[in-house]
Amino acid sequence: MTFYDVLAAHSWEDIRKAILQKTDRDVRRALAKSKRDLQDLMALLSPAAEPYLETMAQISHHLTLKRFGRTIQLYVPLYLSNECHNICTYCGFSFTNKISRKTLTPEEIREEARAIKQMGFEHILLVTGEAPAIVDFAYLKEALREVRPLFANISMEVQPLQTEEYRALLREGLYGVYIYQETYNEQRYPVYHVKGIKRNFRFRLETPDRLGQAGAYKIGLGVLLGLEDWRTDAWFMGLHLDYLRRMYWKTRFSISFPRLRPAHGVEVNGSTISDRELVQLITAFRLFDENVELVLSTREPAELRDHLIPLGITTMSAASRTQPGGYAAEKKELEQFEVADHRSPQEVAQQIEKQGYQPVWKDWDAHISLALEQ
Ligand code: SF4
Repeated sequence: MTFYDVLAAHSWEDIRKAILQKTDRDVRRALAKSKRDLQDLMALLSPAAEPYLETMAQISHHLTLKRFGRTIQLYVPLYLSNECHNICTYCGFSFTNKISRKTLTPEEIREEARAIKQMGFEHILLVTGEAPAIVDFAYLKEALREVRPLFANISMEVQPLQTEEYRALLREGLYGVYIYQETYNEQRYPVYHVKGIKRNFRFRLETPDRLGQAGAYKIGLGVLLGLEDWRTDAWFMGLHLDYLRRMYWKTRFSISFPRLRPAHGVEVNGSTISDRELVQLITAFRLFDENVELVLSTREPAELRDHLIPLGITTMSAASRTQPGGYAAEKKELEQFEVADHRSPQEVAQQIEKQGYQPVWKDWDAHISLALEQ
C-alpha cells in the first residue's frame, strides 16, 4: 500500500463540501482538544474558523514554543540547474519558456557554495529543474560531494528519484528531500502539468513513500497555493502527513506554504489565498501537528514574514537567489520566480532576534547522517 491507495479512497468534491459544512461548534470542539485529528483539521481550515484566528494564533504560538523553543532555523537554496523538460504552467523554468538555461559545473558549484558559506549559512537546499538527461542521479551525487565539506545540513528539491537512488544519496550525507505535490486534485493536476515526467501524478505522489522506505531523515511536503481550492488541498496534505508519520515514524516532516509568484512567462491573476487565510492555514497545521516543521520562504514579503515568526513558523530561507550562479554572479534572467523578501541573511537574523527569537544557523551535522548510514 502507498499513499495513492489512501488518496483514492477520498473524493475531492466530498472533502471540499465537508470543509464548507463545518460549523462554529466543530471549530470550538477542535480548539478545546489537546490532540487533534483530521476532522479537527477540516474544521480549522474551514470558513467557520475565520472568527477564531486570534485564538488559533495563540495556541499555535504556545505549541511551537513548547516543542521548538524560541528558535528559527535558517537555510538558503542553491540552484544547480534551471534546465527542465517539463511544462508546468506556473513556473519560470518551464520547457517552452525562452530563457537562458544553465547547469553549474563542479567548479561553479564550488564557487556558489563558497559564496553562500561566506553569508553564514550551514543549512543548504540543492535545487534543480527536472531534466534527467542533463541533471541525473550521477550529477546530483557529484554535487552533493562538492558541497558536503562546507555545510552541516544538506537537503534537495530535485526530480523524484527511485528508492535505491535516495538510499545512495543518504549514504553520501543527504539529510532531507522536499517534494511538493503542487495539488492533490488528480483530475485537475494535468491542467497545470502539461508535459514531462511531472505529469505522472502517481509517481510524484508516491515519492515520499520511496523516501520513507529509503530512510530519509526529513521529508518536506507542500502544495502550490493559488492553483486549486487551498482549503481542500491543505486537508489532503494533512491526510498525507498523517499517513506518512504513521508509516515512517523515524522521519521528521516539514510543511511549506508557497504561494504562486510572478515569473518569466507566468501570469498570476491575484492569489486565491489572502494573508489572513495564510495565517489560518499555518496555525491550523500547528494545531494539527505539534512536531511538524513549518517553513516560510522568501516568496513572501519581509513584513509578512516578520509578522508570522511568532505564529508557528520554525524554518525560513533568507537572501535566496532562484537562479543558477546567483550568489557568485547575479544573473536575474535565469530565475525561477521573483523573490519578495530581498533582505540580507544578517538583516533577517537581526529581525528574528528583535522579536526575542534565536536564529539557528546549524542544528545538525552532515557527519551525523554519514555516521548513521554506516
Ligand atoms: S515546477 Fe519544476 S518541473 Fe515544473 S517547470 Fe518548474 S522546475 Fe520544471
